[in-house]
Amino acid sequence: MGAGATSAEMEHVVARLQEAGAVARVQRGRDATVIGAIGDREQLATLPLEGFPGVEQVVPILKPYKLVARELSPDPTVIEVDGRRIGDGYFGLIAGPCTVEYREQTLETARAVADAGATMLRGGAFKPRTSPYTFQGLGPEALAILREARDETGLPIVTELMDPRHVEEVVETADVIQIGARNMQNFLLLSEIGRIDKPVLLKRGPSASVEELLMAAEYVAKEGNERIVLCERGIKTFEQTTRYTLDLGSVAVLKRETHLPVIVDPSHAAGRRDLVLPLARAAAAVGADGIIVESHPRPEEALCDGPQQIPTAEFADFAAEVRSIVEILGRQIG
Ligand code: PEP
Ligand code: MN
Repeated sequence: MGAGATSAEMEHVVARLQEAGAVARVQRGRDATVIGAIGDREQLATLPLEGFPGVEQVVPILKPYKLVARELSPDPTVIEVDGRRIGDGYFGLIAGPCTVEYREQTLETARAVADAGATMLRGGAFKPRTSPYTFQGLGPEALAILREARDETGLPIVTELMDPRHVEEVVETADVIQIGARNMQNFLLLSEIGRIDKPVLLKRGPSASVEELLMAAEYVAKEGNERIVLCERGIKTFEQTTRYTLDLGSVAVLKRETHLPVIVDPSHAAGRRDLVLPLARAAAAVGADGIIVESHPRPEEALCDGPQQIPTAEFADFAAEVRSIVEILGRQIG
């Protein structure tokens, strides 16, 4: 809509779009108001939209994703949880153990990362493990420990939801619901969390393209939940020296394609502690809106992903290194 378009003109456009069977969504931005129309292309083409009063320009969105497309919402989305922000200049520093093993391990980690300036606490209660014979997470007991960690440190909780049957109990504790790499294309789960009023951290599948990640986010957004953070965590390639190949190019592409914040998980991508800091710095430099990192008081005793977890004793130095890159870019830890 043109800069001087009136509310009546906007309402008129919306009404006509709806008559043509489209879903119309008004997005008031910093510089312009965009009315997004999602519906049958042929039918919409019959509307003389460009001639309607107040309309400046009609732009077809050719991409298969719409709600998450930058064209529809030119301003970046900021996800805010209890005063912690991710996106548009605010860098989220999410840290914590791979998995909640026992109370002291999680509380110790929570205190260390909170003291070092982390903005949210991660920790798996339900773990997607490659082998059915390995530790699968403490489930509800872990959720109780995470609540205690939040009460003590004030850090919002990021934890994974694996199964639509666990929605109620996980949502009760999680401040941000993580959908793990393996569930990125679990479309029933995506639709389910699309109907929930909590932010979602959606991780890229190790074999998923950038477009598939955006389509997964579109599943969530289509149901009404548009508070989504995307996460690059490495993809499968022929390379064996890192656990996955961290695709930082995808972050640069995503920042152009979508208004959603994009963060990076250097821990799972690296698979080894000594590479986590360089990858985290690179993530900040490429323009990511945050990182999610694993830390453990005694990584050598960890039940899961020990080799990549940063010892809590070293976490403050790690955070300071990341912060310096974030600040060079004129951003701040959210
Ligand atoms: C995790 O972050 O706990 C995790 C299991 O990562 P991913 O889904 O990326 O493998
Ligand atoms: Mn892990």
